[in-house]
Amino acid sequence: MQQWICNQPGTLSLQEAEMPLRTPGFSLLRVRNIGICGTDIHAFAGNQPFFSYPRILGHELAVEIVESDTFSPGELATIIPYFNCATCGACLMERSNCCENIQVFGVHTDGGMREYIVVEDRYILPGNGLSADELALVEPLSIAAHGLRRADLKAGEKVLVMGAGPIGLFTILLAKIQGALVAVAEPNASRLQFCLENLGVSEASSAAYSTVIDATGNLNAIESGFAKMAHGGKYVLIGLQKQAISFSHPEFHKREATLMSSRNATLEDFHYVMNLFRDGKIQADKFISHRFTKNQVPGIFTKMNEPNQQVIKAMITLAE
Ligand SMILES: [Zn+2]
Ligand SMILES: [Zn+2]
Repeated sequence: MQQWICNQPGTLSLQEAEMPLRTPGFSLLRVRNIGICGTDIHAFAGNQPFFSYPRILGHELAVEIVESDTFSPGELATIIPYFNCATCGACLMERSNCCENIQVFGVHTDGGMREYIVVEDRYILPGNGLSADELALVEPLSIAAHGLRRADLKAGEKVLVMGAGPIGLFTILLAKIQGALVAVAEPNASRLQFCLENLGVSEASSAAYSTVIDATGNLNAIESGFAKMAHGGKYVLIGLQKQAISFSHPEFHKREATLMSSRNATLEDFHYVMNLFRDGKIQADKFISHRFTKNQVPGIFTKMNEPNQQVIKAMITLAE
């Protein structure tokens, strides 16, 4: 079978490899679609912290069951790419998304940019009618869903989403579905325009918001978000920043504010997103800005790193 491996930053090589061997409790899967994520782009560019090479990238997957004890061959599915230990304190509290020993498929271990993979059955979610495009979008949407679950929104609540990259867009979309009044802060004019035209949100104002969600990971943006919280407000950080963040404690105290991080997503979030697709609440096409086939794989990342690409979500069809 063929696989694409990132041996060092800036390269992606096509290799012939042995078919992976399936053992009991695991399924052999054919990779159909791969969504490209910021993590993949940063890893390719060499600026993803704590990333080691060589590595096979790809964790946003639509797969087809080939051989399994649990699922039917031919069935489409997605995978939860956060492999957890099931025994640490977080796992025992059903917080496997922040497992102490987490291994993210395609980040800490080799991922899905190959024709076939073997994955433990407990991470496989059958699509039950969802398309390959939809299934490959479930993971990034679940990241947004998890951030919103942390925020525990009330209908009619004023929410500010900072950043309109893919995760920011998905957060806006889901917050709207949950009945929030959503505003967006985004310095890039065309991304902002996309939100205003397609998602029915307003532009951020000087008003205070009962929930502020950061989807930028940018230090200045994160630090500026504290002042945008209303009294009694919440601040959820989905975006990740390498540096220490700082804020005025008196300002934070007088608001009796709540600060939360949001990491990965849980099974509950995946099911939530899959049900939204089933109910026709999300249109996959609206968010897939770039499409690639198998033969275009090696050049994709170079193209994605070019300025002015206006990428929302790039989708690779590895097999039809
Ligand atoms: Zn991702
Ligand atoms: Zn664990």
